[in-house]
Amino acid sequence: MADRNLPLYAASDKAPRRLLKPADLVDNFTAALYKVAPYRACAHGCRYCDGRAEKYYVEGDFERDIQIREDIPSRLAAELPSLRERGMIAFGSGVTDPYQPCEAEKNLTGQAASILADHAEASGKAVGPAGSLSEADLFGKSTAPCVPSGLVMTKSALALRDLPAWKRLNERSGFMLLVSLTSLDEEVRELMEPGASSFEERLALLKAYKEAGCLTGILAMPFLPGLSDDEASIRRLYEAATAVGVDYLMPGGLTLRPGRQKELYLATLAKARPELLAPTKELFQENRPSGMPTGASLRRLSARIASVRRDYHLPYLMPHEALTRLLPPHDAFRVLLRHMAELYKERHIDTSALMRSAQAYDDWLLGLRREFRRHRKLPATWLEERFAEGLHGGEFFKVLANQKLERFAAAVLLEGATFDFISLKLRPSNVSRET
Ligand code: SF4
Repeated sequence: MADRNLPLYAASDKAPRRLLKPADLVDNFTAALYKVAPYRACAHGCRYCDGRAEKYYVEGDFERDIQIREDIPSRLAAELPSLRERGMIAFGSGVTDPYQPCEAEKNLTGQAASILADHAEASGKAVGPAGSLSEADLFGKSTAPCVPSGLVMTKSALALRDLPAWKRLNERSGFMLLVSLTSLDEEVRELMEPGASSFEERLALLKAYKEAGCLTGILAMPFLPGLSDDEASIRRLYEAATAVGVDYLMPGGLTLRPGRQKELYLATLAKARPELLAPTKELFQENRPSGMPTGASLRRLSARIASVRRDYHLPYLMPHEALTRLLPPHDAFRVLLRHMAELYKERHIDTSALMRSAQAYDDWLLGLRREFRRHRKLPATWLEERFAEGLHGGEFFKVLANQKLERFAAAVLLEGATFDFISLKLRPSNVSRET
């Protein structure tokens, strides 16, 4: 246990060398190239929080000993002018919330938002709506490659304070707000997410960002066994999500890693909902290091979610329109291929050929990126121009080595078509792209 006499917010004594360190490939979940966490640990105190697990090495009392990275704004401001790769910066992670209570006083995320918005405004012209990017946008020549887009993941209505700054960023390079929300039952929230904003406040937050023109999504995870994972509760959530117009809703179940995370969750149930203790223990009886419940319970939850999803036009993965708005074309296409594989797999369509092409594309992209990073003298536009050359010169299509996918890629990348994640069909662009 942590020493209760420690200051509520302890300053971090070690800082990573470089704040904006790009990933080799953007990940499928956030689609971000950069990740920034002004805090570590989280006073929202969610009883199921994965960040409590020993695996993440968060020392001390998870809810009280918050590491504060006071230098985040100054480092961000210092590094942005020399940033070499366009991509998205994600704020938030599994072990922290960028808008947790101390942000009200510290304003580190708020300062970062203003710095990013100022930088974007000083650097280039606004992006167009998804599907209507010009060829110059597509190939990174009109939007400066060093202007990142932004993503915030939070459970706090405090994010409303920074709407003006994130809106400014959105108008220049794109912004998405992801709010974690799994139920509309305030009793569940008070028991399991005691420090987070009410569900009503979170829905209002999403509505405000949507009305301001930002992309929005709901991370509906984890649905909690016996508390928020029944079909009626899931349906109410989809209904509310549709009403506030989110762009997608990603559902997911609970994982409980053996150790601190599992112990706290079960102790919470034992105290407040003892009738759920035995069935929950049964779901996690295998004590898998990943924290996954039994396969049978996962299948039952998936079936309930699928039954609700059929009635709502809400993708469960970050939609193609959002990817094209937030990411440079080479990264948007990377995530699109992975999302397609997931969507087809769910419909029991063979994805082996698609996955081979996706892997070959990843290898090609990785090779380009490494070359770009090795040669610091290459201009910041090099990666996007090289991608465009590959596209026009045919090298890109050789990498895919899949005729069907080649036609698809040409429609998406050259003609501006959009892939609809519900119908799994291409929607043509209204704007033609002469090449
Ligand atoms: S808001 Fe996120 S990081 Fe914070 S305690 Fe809850 S689950 Fe963990």
